[in-house]
Amino acid sequence: MRVLLVGGGGREHALALGLVGDPSVEGVIAAPGNPGIAGIAELREVAAADPSAVAALAVEVQADLVVIGPEAPLVAGVADAVRAKGIAAFGPSAEAARLEGSKTFAKEIMTAAGVPTARAHTCTDAESTARALDEFGAPYVVKNDGLAAGKGVVVTEDRDAALAHAQECGRVVVEEYLAGPEVSLFVVTDGEAALPLLPAQDFKRVGDGDSGPNTGGMGAYAPLPWAPPGLVDEVMRDVVHPTLAEMRRRGTPFAGLLYVGLALTTAGPRVIEFNARFGDPETQVVLALLETPLAGLLHAAATGTLAAHPPLRWRDGAAVTVVVAADGYPASPRTGDVITGADRAGIIHAGTRRAADGALLSAGGRVLCGTATGPDLAAAQDAAYALVRGVELAGSHHRTDIAAAAVEGRIAVPD
Ligand code: AMP
Repeated sequence: MRVLLVGGGGREHALALGLVGDPSVEGVIAAPGNPGIAGIAELREVAAADPSAVAALAVEVQADLVVIGPEAPLVAGVADAVRAKGIAAFGPSAEAARLEGSKTFAKEIMTAAGVPTARAHTCTDAESTARALDEFGAPYVVKNDGLAAGKGVVVTEDRDAALAHAQECGRVVVEEYLAGPEVSLFVVTDGEAALPLLPAQDFKRVGDGDSGPNTGGMGAYAPLPWAPPGLVDEVMRDVVHPTLAEMRRRGTPFAGLLYVGLALTTAGPRVIEFNARFGDPETQVVLALLETPLAGLLHAAATGTLAAHPPLRWRDGAAVTVVVAADGYPASPRTGDVITGADRAGIIHAGTRRAADGALLSAGGRVLCGTATGPDLAAAQDAAYALVRGVELAGSHHRTDIAAAAVEGRIAVPD
Protein backbone atom coordinates (compact mmCIF):
# COMPACT_ATOMS: atom_id res chain seq x y z
CA MET A 1 0.00 0.00 0.00
CA ARG A 2 1.19 3.56 -0.77
CA VAL A 3 0.41 6.02 1.98
CA LEU A 4 0.27 9.81 1.78
CA LEU A 5 0.76 11.34 5.23
CA VAL A 6 -0.37 14.94 5.66
CA GLY A 7 1.40 17.12 8.23
CA GLY A 8 4.87 17.89 9.45
CA GLY A 9 5.09 17.80 13.25
CA GLY A 10 6.13 15.33 15.93
CA ARG A 11 2.83 13.46 15.63
CA GLU A 12 3.45 12.94 11.91
CA HIS A 13 7.02 11.78 12.52
CA ALA A 14 5.66 9.18 14.96
CA LEU A 15 2.93 8.19 12.47
CA ALA A 16 5.55 7.90 9.70
CA LEU A 17 7.65 5.57 11.85
CA GLY A 18 4.58 3.40 12.48
CA LEU A 19 3.57 3.39 8.81
CA VAL A 20 7.00 2.44 7.45
CA GLY A 21 7.16 -0.35 10.05
CA ASP A 22 4.05 -1.97 8.53
CA PRO A 23 5.09 -4.71 6.08
CA SER A 24 2.07 -3.98 3.87
CA VAL A 25 3.40 -0.46 3.17
CA GLU A 26 5.58 -0.10 0.10
CA GLY A 27 6.11 3.63 0.39
CA VAL A 28 5.22 6.66 2.51
CA ILE A 29 5.01 10.13 1.01
CA ALA A 30 4.80 12.91 3.61
CA ALA A 31 3.53 16.38 2.78
CA PRO A 32 5.06 18.63 3.85
CA GLY A 33 6.88 16.34 6.35
CA ASN A 34 9.98 17.53 8.21
CA PRO A 35 13.72 16.75 8.32
CA GLY A 36 13.16 13.81 10.67
CA ILE A 37 10.52 12.26 8.41
CA ALA A 38 12.83 12.88 5.42
CA GLY A 39 15.00 10.00 6.64
CA ILE A 40 12.21 7.44 6.17
CA ALA A 41 9.79 8.86 3.60
CA GLU A 42 9.63 10.88 0.41
CA LEU A 43 8.69 14.51 1.09
CA ARG A 44 6.39 16.64 -1.07
CA GLU A 45 5.37 20.25 -0.69
CA VAL A 46 1.67 20.88 -0.21
CA ALA A 47 -0.63 23.44 1.36
CA ALA A 48 -1.85 20.92 3.95
CA ALA A 49 -5.15 22.71 4.66
CA ASP A 50 -6.09 23.08 0.98
CA PRO A 51 -8.51 20.21 0.19
CA SER A 52 -8.09 20.28 -3.58
CA ALA A 53 -4.28 20.50 -3.38
CA VAL A 54 -4.05 17.48 -1.07
CA ALA A 55 -6.56 15.49 -3.14
CA ALA A 56 -4.61 16.25 -6.33
CA LEU A 57 -1.37 15.13 -4.67
CA ALA A 58 -3.04 11.91 -3.48
CA VAL A 59 -4.03 11.15 -7.07
CA GLU A 60 -0.58 12.08 -8.41
CA VAL A 61 1.32 9.83 -5.98
CA GLN A 62 -1.26 7.03 -6.47
CA ALA A 63 -1.96 6.79 -2.76
CA ASP A 64 -4.04 3.87 -1.50
CA LEU A 65 -4.50 5.61 1.84
CA VAL A 66 -4.21 9.22 2.97
CA VAL A 67 -3.56 9.76 6.68
CA ILE A 68 -4.33 13.29 7.83
CA GLY A 69 -2.41 14.25 10.97
CA PRO A 70 -3.36 17.80 12.06
CA GLU A 71 -6.77 19.27 12.85
CA ALA A 72 -6.74 22.27 10.48
CA PRO A 73 -6.84 20.17 7.25
CA LEU A 74 -9.63 18.02 8.72
CA VAL A 75 -11.74 21.01 9.67
CA ALA A 76 -11.07 22.43 6.17
CA GLY A 77 -12.46 19.28 4.51
CA VAL A 78 -9.29 17.55 3.28
CA ALA A 79 -10.64 14.06 4.09
CA ASP A 80 -13.84 14.79 2.11
CA ALA A 81 -11.85 15.96 -0.93
CA VAL A 82 -9.61 12.88 -0.87
CA ARG A 83 -12.59 10.52 -0.56
CA ALA A 84 -14.30 12.33 -3.44
CA LYS A 85 -11.41 11.10 -5.61
CA GLY A 86 -12.17 7.51 -4.56
CA ILE A 87 -9.13 7.26 -2.28
CA ALA A 88 -9.38 6.00 1.31
CA ALA A 89 -8.74 8.74 3.88
CA PHE A 90 -8.05 8.28 7.58
CA GLY A 91 -9.64 11.28 9.24
CA PRO A 92 -13.16 12.62 9.77
CA SER A 93 -15.19 14.74 7.36
CA ALA A 94 -15.27 18.50 7.91
CA GLU A 95 -18.73 18.13 9.45
CA ALA A 96 -17.56 15.47 11.92
CA ALA A 97 -14.30 17.32 12.69
CA ARG A 98 -16.45 20.04 14.27
CA LEU A 99 -16.20 17.86 17.40
CA GLU A 100 -12.79 19.51 17.69
CA GLY A 101 -13.33 22.63 15.58
CA SER A 102 -16.00 24.06 17.87
CA LYS A 103 -16.08 23.57 21.62
CA THR A 104 -19.74 24.65 21.60
CA PHE A 105 -20.61 21.94 19.04
CA ALA A 106 -18.73 19.34 21.10
CA LYS A 107 -20.77 20.32 24.18
CA GLU A 108 -23.99 20.08 22.17
CA ILE A 109 -23.12 16.54 21.06
CA MET A 110 -22.12 15.51 24.58
CA THR A 111 -25.36 16.86 26.01
CA ALA A 112 -27.46 15.11 23.35
CA ALA A 113 -25.54 11.85 23.87
CA GLY A 114 -25.64 12.02 27.70
CA VAL A 115 -21.83 12.06 27.91
CA PRO A 116 -20.44 13.15 31.29
CA THR A 117 -18.56 16.46 30.96
CA ALA A 118 -18.07 19.82 32.70
CA ARG A 119 -21.09 22.13 32.84
CA ALA A 120 -20.46 25.03 30.47
CA HIS A 121 -21.80 28.23 28.91
CA THR A 122 -20.86 29.75 25.56
CA CYS A 123 -20.25 33.50 25.99
CA THR A 124 -19.63 36.30 23.51
CA ASP A 125 -19.56 39.39 25.73
CA ALA A 126 -17.99 40.53 28.99
CA GLU A 127 -21.27 40.53 30.90
CA SER A 128 -22.28 36.93 30.16
CA THR A 129 -18.66 35.81 30.66
CA ALA A 130 -18.56 37.42 34.11
CA ARG A 131 -21.88 35.78 35.03
CA ALA A 132 -20.59 32.35 33.95
CA LEU A 133 -17.30 32.80 35.83
CA ASP A 134 -19.19 33.66 39.00
CA GLU A 135 -21.61 30.78 38.59
CA PHE A 136 -18.81 28.19 38.45
CA GLY A 137 -16.30 29.97 40.72
CA ALA A 138 -12.50 29.58 40.82
CA PRO A 139 -10.41 28.03 39.39
CA TYR A 140 -11.79 29.60 36.21
CA VAL A 141 -11.71 27.71 32.89
CA VAL A 142 -12.07 29.78 29.70
CA LYS A 143 -11.72 28.16 26.26
CA ASN A 144 -11.51 29.76 22.85
CA ASP A 145 -14.48 28.33 20.92
CA GLY A 146 -12.46 27.64 17.76
CA LEU A 147 -9.17 25.94 16.90
CA ALA A 148 -6.24 27.42 18.81
CA ALA A 149 -3.45 24.85 18.33
CA GLY A 150 -3.74 23.64 21.92
CA LYS A 151 -3.23 27.12 23.33
CA GLY A 152 -6.76 28.48 23.56
CA VAL A 153 -7.46 27.38 27.12
CA VAL A 154 -6.78 29.39 30.26
CA VAL A 155 -7.21 27.81 33.69
CA THR A 156 -6.62 30.40 36.39
CA GLU A 157 -7.50 31.58 39.89
CA ASP A 158 -7.34 35.15 38.59
CA ARG A 159 -10.80 36.39 37.55
CA ASP A 160 -9.36 39.38 35.65
CA ALA A 161 -7.03 37.11 33.66
CA ALA A 162 -10.01 34.85 32.83
CA LEU A 163 -12.02 37.87 31.64
CA ALA A 164 -9.06 39.21 29.62
CA HIS A 165 -8.63 35.85 27.83
CA ALA A 166 -12.34 35.80 27.00
CA GLN A 167 -12.13 39.29 25.54
CA GLU A 168 -9.12 38.36 23.39
CA CYS A 169 -10.90 35.29 22.01
CA GLY A 170 -14.30 36.82 21.32
CA ARG A 171 -16.43 33.69 21.55
CA VAL A 172 -15.55 31.41 24.45
CA VAL A 173 -16.79 28.45 26.43
CA VAL A 174 -16.64 29.05 30.19
CA GLU A 175 -16.86 25.86 32.15
CA GLU A 176 -16.72 24.27 35.54
CA TYR A 177 -13.25 23.19 36.75
CA LEU A 178 -12.70 19.42 36.78
CA ALA A 179 -10.33 18.18 39.48
CA GLY A 180 -8.53 14.85 39.10
CA PRO A 181 -5.78 13.16 37.11
CA GLU A 182 -6.05 13.53 33.34
CA VAL A 183 -6.10 10.73 30.79
CA SER A 184 -5.88 10.86 26.99
CA LEU A 185 -7.64 7.98 25.28
CA PHE A 186 -7.27 7.54 21.50
CA VAL A 187 -9.98 5.59 19.75
CA VAL A 188 -9.69 4.39 16.13
CA THR A 189 -13.15 4.22 14.57
CA ASP A 190 -14.85 3.75 11.22
CA GLY A 191 -17.93 5.52 12.56
CA GLU A 192 -19.46 2.43 14.11
CA ALA A 193 -16.82 -0.07 15.26
CA ALA A 194 -14.25 1.43 17.61
CA LEU A 195 -10.90 0.20 18.97
CA PRO A 196 -9.32 2.00 21.93
CA LEU A 197 -5.54 2.43 22.03
CA LEU A 198 -3.59 2.45 25.31
CA PRO A 199 -4.50 5.33 27.62
CA ALA A 200 -1.71 7.89 28.00
CA GLN A 201 -1.05 11.01 30.03
CA ASP A 202 0.36 14.24 28.69
CA PHE A 203 1.76 17.32 30.40
CA LYS A 204 0.12 20.53 29.26
CA ARG A 205 1.82 23.11 31.47
CA VAL A 206 5.20 24.42 30.45
CA GLY A 207 6.96 24.01 33.80
CA ASP A 208 7.79 21.30 36.31
CA GLY A 209 5.06 20.56 38.85
CA ASP A 210 2.44 21.76 36.31
CA SER A 211 3.49 25.39 36.65
CA GLY A 212 3.25 28.16 34.05
CA PRO A 213 1.01 28.52 31.02
CA ASN A 214 -0.62 25.78 28.94
CA THR A 215 1.26 24.52 25.89
CA GLY A 216 0.63 22.07 23.07
CA GLY A 217 2.11 19.40 25.39
CA MET A 218 5.55 19.01 26.98
CA GLY A 219 5.76 15.23 27.30
CA ALA A 220 3.76 12.03 27.74
CA TYR A 221 3.90 8.45 28.90
CA ALA A 222 1.95 5.21 28.53
CA PRO A 223 0.59 2.98 29.84
CA LEU A 224 -0.86 4.40 33.09
CA PRO A 225 0.05 2.13 36.00
CA TRP A 226 -2.45 3.96 38.23
CA ALA A 227 -5.48 3.78 35.90
CA PRO A 228 -8.45 1.84 37.32
CA PRO A 229 -8.77 -1.54 35.54
CA GLY A 230 -12.24 -0.89 34.09
CA LEU A 231 -11.49 2.64 32.89
CA VAL A 232 -11.24 2.02 29.14
CA ASP A 233 -14.39 -0.13 29.04
CA GLU A 234 -16.28 2.52 31.02
CA VAL A 235 -15.18 5.31 28.69
CA MET A 236 -16.04 3.26 25.60
CA ARG A 237 -19.52 2.56 27.03
CA ASP A 238 -20.35 5.98 28.50
CA VAL A 239 -18.49 8.34 26.15
CA VAL A 240 -17.28 6.87 22.86
CA HIS A 241 -20.21 4.74 21.71
CA PRO A 242 -22.89 7.30 22.68
CA THR A 243 -20.91 10.03 20.87
CA LEU A 244 -20.45 7.92 17.72
CA ALA A 245 -24.16 7.02 17.80
CA GLU A 246 -25.17 10.69 18.08
CA MET A 247 -22.89 11.62 15.15
CA ARG A 248 -24.46 8.83 13.04
CA ARG A 249 -27.94 9.95 14.05
CA ARG A 250 -27.17 13.43 12.70
CA GLY A 251 -26.00 11.98 9.41
CA THR A 252 -22.39 13.00 10.04
CA PRO A 253 -20.67 9.83 11.27
CA PHE A 254 -17.27 10.35 12.86
CA ALA A 255 -14.62 8.10 11.28
CA GLY A 256 -10.94 8.52 12.11
CA LEU A 257 -9.29 9.11 15.43
CA LEU A 258 -11.46 10.26 18.30
CA TYR A 259 -9.25 11.68 21.03
CA VAL A 260 -11.00 11.73 24.38
CA GLY A 261 -9.38 13.97 27.00
CA LEU A 262 -10.70 13.03 30.45
CA ALA A 263 -10.40 14.07 34.05
CA LEU A 264 -10.93 11.28 36.59
CA THR A 265 -13.00 13.19 39.16
CA THR A 266 -14.63 12.06 42.39
CA ALA A 267 -17.86 11.77 40.38
CA GLY A 268 -16.20 9.53 37.75
CA PRO A 269 -14.53 10.19 34.39
CA ARG A 270 -15.56 13.51 32.80
CA VAL A 271 -14.71 14.61 29.27
CA ILE A 272 -12.45 17.67 29.16
CA GLU A 273 -12.30 17.77 25.38
CA PHE A 274 -12.63 15.87 22.14
CA ASN A 275 -10.07 16.11 19.39
CA ALA A 276 -10.57 14.79 15.88
CA ARG A 277 -7.03 13.45 15.40
CA PHE A 278 -4.08 11.87 17.15
CA GLY A 279 -2.77 13.99 20.04
CA ASP A 280 0.76 15.30 20.16
CA PRO A 281 2.90 14.19 22.05
CA GLU A 282 0.85 11.18 23.27
CA THR A 283 1.01 9.64 19.78
CA GLN A 284 4.76 9.25 20.17
CA VAL A 285 4.38 6.97 23.20
CA VAL A 286 1.21 5.11 22.19
CA LEU A 287 2.54 4.18 18.75
CA ALA A 288 5.92 3.21 20.22
CA LEU A 289 4.04 0.44 22.07
CA LEU A 290 1.67 -0.63 19.27
CA GLU A 291 2.70 -3.94 17.74
CA THR A 292 -0.27 -4.24 15.35
CA PRO A 293 0.71 -2.90 11.89
CA LEU A 294 -0.44 0.73 11.80
CA ALA A 295 -1.34 1.17 8.12
CA GLY A 296 -3.62 -1.88 8.14
CA LEU A 297 -5.44 -0.54 11.20
CA LEU A 298 -5.92 2.96 9.77
CA HIS A 299 -6.95 1.53 6.38
CA ALA A 300 -9.62 -0.61 8.07
CA ALA A 301 -11.00 2.49 9.81
CA ALA A 302 -10.91 4.45 6.55
CA THR A 303 -12.78 1.78 4.62
CA GLY A 304 -15.49 0.84 7.13
CA THR A 305 -14.05 -2.61 7.86
CA LEU A 306 -12.83 -2.11 11.41
CA ALA A 307 -15.30 -4.67 12.85
CA ALA A 308 -13.33 -7.39 11.01
CA HIS A 309 -9.95 -6.13 12.25
CA PRO A 310 -8.13 -8.45 14.69
CA PRO A 311 -7.70 -7.28 18.30
CA LEU A 312 -4.78 -4.90 18.84
CA ARG A 313 -1.45 -6.23 20.08
CA TRP A 314 0.82 -4.22 22.36
CA ARG A 315 4.49 -4.48 23.30
CA ASP A 316 5.29 -5.12 26.95
CA GLY A 317 6.81 -2.30 28.96
CA ALA A 318 6.30 1.44 28.81
CA ALA A 319 7.14 4.50 26.70
CA VAL A 320 8.03 8.07 27.64
CA THR A 321 8.50 11.14 25.47
CA VAL A 322 10.04 14.44 26.59
CA VAL A 323 9.60 17.58 24.48
CA VAL A 324 12.50 19.98 23.94
CA ALA A 325 11.02 23.45 23.47
CA ALA A 326 12.56 26.58 22.01
CA ASP A 327 13.66 29.56 24.05
CA GLY A 328 10.59 31.68 24.80
CA TYR A 329 8.02 28.90 24.22
CA PRO A 330 5.04 29.12 24.57
CA ALA A 331 4.76 32.94 24.59
CA SER A 332 7.17 33.81 21.77
CA PRO A 333 9.41 30.95 20.67
CA ARG A 334 12.70 31.86 19.04
CA THR A 335 13.45 29.97 15.83
CA GLY A 336 16.50 29.57 13.60
CA ASP A 337 18.91 28.17 16.22
CA VAL A 338 21.28 25.34 15.29
CA ILE A 339 20.48 21.90 16.75
CA THR A 340 23.09 19.22 17.24
CA GLY A 341 22.81 15.69 18.57
CA ALA A 342 19.41 15.08 17.04
CA ASP A 343 20.48 12.41 14.60
CA ARG A 344 19.62 9.39 16.74
CA ALA A 345 16.89 6.78 16.88
CA GLY A 346 14.22 7.97 19.29
CA ILE A 347 14.57 11.66 18.45
CA ILE A 348 11.31 12.76 16.89
CA HIS A 349 11.26 16.04 14.99
CA ALA A 350 8.43 18.47 15.69
CA GLY A 351 9.57 21.96 14.67
CA THR A 352 12.80 21.67 12.70
CA ARG A 353 14.04 22.57 9.25
CA ARG A 354 17.16 22.00 7.21
CA ALA A 355 19.27 25.03 6.23
CA ALA A 356 20.77 25.22 2.74
CA ASP A 357 24.13 24.08 4.16
CA GLY A 358 22.51 20.99 5.73
CA ALA A 359 22.48 22.29 9.31
CA LEU A 360 19.42 21.39 11.38
CA LEU A 361 17.61 24.48 12.69
CA SER A 362 14.76 25.06 15.12
CA ALA A 363 11.59 26.10 13.31
CA GLY A 364 8.83 25.99 15.92
CA GLY A 365 7.99 26.18 19.61
CA ARG A 366 8.16 22.47 20.29
CA VAL A 367 11.33 21.56 18.44
CA LEU A 368 11.78 17.84 18.97
CA CYS A 369 11.19 15.12 21.50
CA GLY A 370 13.13 12.21 22.91
CA THR A 371 10.96 9.09 22.83
CA ALA A 372 12.04 5.83 24.40
CA THR A 373 10.60 2.53 25.52
CA GLY A 374 11.77 0.34 28.37
CA PRO A 375 10.77 -2.72 30.37
CA ASP A 376 9.01 -0.41 32.84
CA LEU A 377 8.14 3.26 33.19
CA ALA A 378 11.29 4.16 35.14
CA ALA A 379 13.53 2.59 32.49
CA ALA A 380 11.66 4.32 29.67
CA GLN A 381 11.91 7.63 31.54
CA ASP A 382 15.69 7.25 31.99
CA ALA A 383 16.13 6.40 28.32
CA ALA A 384 14.00 9.35 27.14
CA TYR A 385 15.96 11.80 29.32
CA ALA A 386 19.26 10.33 28.06
CA LEU A 387 18.11 11.16 24.51
CA VAL A 388 17.15 14.71 25.50
CA ARG A 389 20.48 15.32 27.27
CA GLY A 390 22.28 14.48 24.04
CA VAL A 391 20.55 17.34 22.15
CA GLU A 392 22.07 20.80 22.05
CA LEU A 393 19.90 23.80 21.20
CA ALA A 394 20.69 27.25 22.60
CA GLY A 395 18.10 28.50 25.09
CA SER A 396 15.97 25.35 24.89
CA HIS A 397 14.05 24.02 27.87
CA HIS A 398 12.22 20.84 28.82
CA ARG A 399 10.34 19.56 31.83
CA THR A 400 12.35 17.37 34.17
CA ASP A 401 9.36 15.61 35.74
CA ILE A 402 7.70 13.80 32.82
CA ALA A 403 6.23 10.53 34.21
CA ALA A 404 7.86 11.21 37.60
CA ALA A 405 4.66 11.18 39.67
CA ALA A 406 3.60 7.89 38.06
CA VAL A 407 7.03 6.30 38.57
CA GLU A 408 6.95 7.35 42.22
CA GLY A 409 3.35 6.18 42.75
CA ARG A 410 2.13 9.69 43.58
CA ILE A 411 -1.01 9.70 41.40
CA ALA A 412 -4.21 8.91 43.18
CA VAL A 413 -7.51 8.36 41.42
CA PRO A 414 -10.35 9.69 43.59
CA ASP A 415 -12.89 7.04 44.75
P1 AMP B 1 -8.15 21.47 26.27
O1 AMP B 1 -7.50 22.19 25.13
O2 AMP B 1 -9.63 21.61 26.33
O3 AMP B 1 -7.63 20.07 26.44
O4 AMP B 1 -7.56 22.13 27.58
C1 AMP B 1 -6.18 22.15 27.83
C2 AMP B 1 -5.92 21.79 29.24
O5 AMP B 1 -6.57 22.68 30.12
C3 AMP B 1 -6.44 20.41 29.64
O6 AMP B 1 -5.56 19.37 29.31
C4 AMP B 1 -6.59 20.56 31.13
O7 AMP B 1 -5.35 20.42 31.78
C5 AMP B 1 -7.03 22.00 31.26
N1 AMP B 1 -8.50 22.04 31.32
C6 AMP B 1 -9.36 22.21 30.29
N2 AMP B 1 -10.63 22.18 30.71
C7 AMP B 1 -10.60 21.97 32.04
C8 AMP B 1 -11.59 21.86 33.06
N3 AMP B 1 -12.89 21.97 32.80
N4 AMP B 1 -11.17 21.64 34.33
C9 AMP B 1 -9.85 21.54 34.61
N5 AMP B 1 -8.87 21.67 33.72
C10 AMP B 1 -9.23 21.89 32.44
